[in-house]
Amino acid sequence: MAEAQPFTIEQWYNFLSEGKLMAVRCRNCGAKYLPPKPVCTNCYSRRLEWISLKPTGRLITYTIIHVAPERFQQFVPYAYGIVEFEDGLRLPGMIRDIDHGEIQIGMELELSFEPAVEDWPKWPRYYFRPVKH
Ligand SMILES: [Zn+2]
Repeated sequence: MAEAQPFTIEQWYNFLSEGKLMAVRCRNCGAKYLPPKPVCTNCYSRRLEWISLKPTGRLITYTIIHVAPERFQQFVPYAYGIVEFEDGLRLPGMIRDIDHGEIQIGMELELSFEPAVEDWPKWPRYYFRPVKH
């Protein structure tokens, strides 16, 4: 059962490595969190459960990064945006597989994955790419 898994970022990445986008829902008040929190910050309940989200959403905002942290230098310049999934849950991440000039606010993006790399974080990385229709 998904509820038996700890409500940690590490477990969240474990789900990502299985190709699942998961969020946490409070069983007391219904609040949802992405990424997960170990306790509901709305009602302070610890009665939480994992829920799966459809891994496609809409681009809310983005920027083009030219000066990046060292481990992301290889990607410069890259697009970094915030995608809104169902229930208003939002996740930031890199936007790839698209010309920067073609990125538009409101466009549909899907979560995609690449294998974990040697340096930190060892968890699988994710990014967003256009939905292919
Ligand atoms: Zn709650």
